[in-house]
Amino acid sequence: MKYELIIIGGGVWGCSAALTAVRAGLKSVLLIEANPGIAQESSAKAGGIVTDLVWHQDDVRWVRRSRQFYEEALALSGDASILQRYGMLTLAEPDRAPLLKMRAENLASQGIQAEIWDYRRIQDTYPELDRLASDVTGLWTPEDFHVNPTAYSQAVFQEARRQGLGARLGDRVERLEPQDDHVIVHVSSERLMAERVLVTAGTWSRKLLNTAGINIPLRPYRVQLSSLDFAGGYHLPMVWELSSDVYLVPDGPHNLLAGDGTRLAEFDPDNYQTTGDEEFLANIADQTVQLMSLAETAGLRSSWAGLCGGTPDRRPLLGRVQDRLFVAAGDQGFGVMRGPALGELACQVALGQAQAPALNPLREPYSDFPIRPGFTLEDEL
Ligand SMILES: Cc1cc2nc3c(=O)[nH]c(=O)nc-3n(C[C@H](O)[C@H](O)[C@H](O)COP(=O)(O)OP(=O)(O)OC[C@H]3O[C@@H](n4cnc5c(N)ncnc54)[C@H](O)[C@@H]3O)c2cc1C
Repeated sequence: MKYELIIIGGGVWGCSAALTAVRAGLKSVLLIEANPGIAQESSAKAGGIVTDLVWHQDDVRWVRRSRQFYEEALALSGDASILQRYGMLTLAEPDRAPLLKMRAENLASQGIQAEIWDYRRIQDTYPELDRLASDVTGLWTPEDFHVNPTAYSQAVFQEARRQGLGARLGDRVERLEPQDDHVIVHVSSERLMAERVLVTAGTWSRKLLNTAGINIPLRPYRVQLSSLDFAGGYHLPMVWELSSDVYLVPDGPHNLLAGDGTRLAEFDPDNYQTTGDEEFLANIADQTVQLMSLAETAGLRSSWAGLCGGTPDRRPLLGRVQDRLFVAAGDQGFGVMRGPALGELACQVALGQAQAPALNPLREPYSDFPIRPGFTLEDEL
C-alpha cells in the first residue's frame, strides 16, 4: 500500500495538519507519533498563551486562523479545558510604555480590543498585583486566551480519526528514504510507502531529516515553567511583565503557571534536563514575589522544561525539502498560538493546494546562528 500522505509527529502542528488532510478529501493519511499518546512533548509543556501581540504580519494572520481552530475544537469536543478566556495584561516600566501604546494602537487598527491601563486601573482591577511600581503601564488585551494544547490536539486528532485518519501511536520513525516517486518511512522494522511525507516532529525535525541526508537550520533551546500553588486561590488574568520577561498563566483556581526560564543554548531533544533547574526556581520565586506579596505564601507544585526550535531569522521553517518531503518546524517558543494555522498551511503546501510561503526550510546558515528569543514585543510589524 502507498499512503497519499504520512505525517510524522502528533503535536499541535501535526494534528492540525492531519485534520486538514482528511478534510481535503484524502483517503489514506497516516499520522505517526513516537509517544503512546498525542501531544506529549513541547505541546504538553507550553504555557498555552494565545495572543495577538506578535511581531510579524504573517504571525498576526496565523494567530487569527489558529484562534478559529481552537474555537472549533472546543465546539466539536465540548471539552471546556481546551480554551479559557482570561485576557492578558502586559506590564511595562516607563521606558517601554511608548512601545505598549504603539502596540495598543496597532491592535485597535486591526479591530482587536486593546486598552492602556495606568497604575490605578491595574490596582483596582487586580489588587493582588500589589508590588508594582506606581509608574507602571499596562496593556490589557481581553480577547487573549489560554489553551490546553494537549486537549486541543486530542480533540482534533479524534475528529480526524472519525474522518478516516490512520494512526500509529508509540512508533518512532527511524529513517526517511526519499525515492523518485515516493518516500520510504522506516518504522518498527517496517517500510511504509508514501506519495508525500510531512515532518512535524517539533525539535526532532532536524535529526529526522538528517537521516535522509537533509539539513535544516533548527537549533533546539530549553524553556522552563513552574506551577505555583496558592492554597487560598487568587484573582489574576494572564500577566506578562516585560522587564523581567516573567509570565503568569492561571491554571485552575489554585495553581498559577510562572515562567521566564529560557536557556538560549542548543540542547539535544533526546537528552536534556526535563525538570526546572535550581537557578530558574530561585529566580521565578523572586520575580513573582516582586509582583505580588501573595506569592510569598505560594508553594512550588512542580516544574518542567521543554524544547523550542530556534531558526536563523526566528521565522518558521515551512515547505519542501526534497521532491516529496516537506517540513513544518521552528516554533521559536510561540508555536501554540500559531501552530494550527501553520499545520494547516504545511499540509496545503504538501498537497499543492497552497503556494509555499517565503519560509524556505533550507535557508542558511544551517547551524552557525545565535539562538534568540522568539516571542518579543519589539521588532517590525
Ligand atoms: C515551557 C514552554 C512554554 C511554552 N509556552 C508557550 C505559550 O505560552 N504559547 C505558545 O504559543 N507556545 C508556547 N510554547 C511553544 C510550544 O510549546 C511549541 O511551539 C509547540 O508545542 C510546538 O508544537 P509541535 O507540534 O511543533 O511540536 P511537539 O508538540 O513537540 O510535537 C512534535 C511531536 O513529534 C514527535 N516525534 C518526534 N520525532 C519523531 C519520530 N522520529 N517519529 C515519530 N514521532 C516523532 C514527538 O514525540 C512529538 O509528539 C512553549 C514551550 C515550552 C517548552
